[in-house]
Amino acid sequence: MKVILAQPRGFCAGVVRAIDIVERALATCDAPVYVRHEIVHNRHVVDGLKARGARFVEELDEIPGDAVAIFSAHGVSRAVESEAADRKLRVIDATCPLVTKVHNQGQRYASLGRTVLFIGHAGHPEVEGTLGRITGTVHLVESREDVLGLPIPDDTPVAYITQTTLSVDDTRQTIEAIQKRFSDVIGPETRDICYATQNRQTAVRNLCRHIDVLLVVGSANSSNSNRLREIGEELGIPSYLVADGRQVDPAWLVGKETIGITAGASAPDVLVDDVVGALAKLGPVEIQALQGVEEKITFRLPRELLEAS
Ligand code: SF4
Repeated sequence: MKVILAQPRGFCAGVVRAIDIVERALATCDAPVYVRHEIVHNRHVVDGLKARGARFVEELDEIPGDAVAIFSAHGVSRAVESEAADRKLRVIDATCPLVTKVHNQGQRYASLGRTVLFIGHAGHPEVEGTLGRITGTVHLVESREDVLGLPIPDDTPVAYITQTTLSVDDTRQTIEAIQKRFSDVIGPETRDICYATQNRQTAVRNLCRHIDVLLVVGSANSSNSNRLREIGEELGIPSYLVADGRQVDPAWLVGKETIGITAGASAPDVLVDDVVGALAKLGPVEIQALQGVEEKITFRLPRELLEAS
């Protein structure tokens, strides 16, 4: 069996920064460290940080007043921020700078008096955070149909923004529908929204030209991992999302010679190794990595943590 690894795959700079923030907080803060929501959407990462002392909660009211509260990489609404300030929690914000960039874009468009159309998936923490940061009129749209059904006149000045981890192609279709329906539209270049999403999607497209089956390593609630699997399916390759090697079903591989592996932006390399290990138990494997973009982007840590450590 031949195994081809996508390049790039796995951790992005926003995820590395968020995990680093929790690790440094655990090492330098004398108070208990609480994290609101999964810091990144990966159970293995969350369990590892839990084992080192981090406590994960869903809402701020579960955090005692003397504790450190870390906001996850997905960002939070202004209401959550205000609640933390009212309760005088010591907050460390691990929101990815690229998510913050989308918040700022949305607020800028709303301040120009435009109706903001936010392309994203309802219920995702990033979407809830972004919706709760824009003062003005915002509509969440998930598809072309949602755009057609918007209860606003076609000459409304609108601006679109998008969730960072969507499929660039899906987003393009929704943007085309917005541009077709409305006469006054502005928005950012979608390829600039998140370099990691763009690079992993380009890499999986390249990978799919060489493989019979695609395995995407990532958690079921990871938006960008799900998009990678969907791209494989759209390209006609049987594609499966697996959290680790235990979830690989040998039946998927019957009669297949070349297996492609990629990983979502929140999946660590150790889980890719685990999946390769599971394949190796089924028979000899020859491993190869595809050529791809080499990422050198890093994001600065919050100043208080840099100073403390
Ligand atoms: Fe930031 Fe993009 Fe990573 Fe999301 S996928 S954490 S937006 S770098």
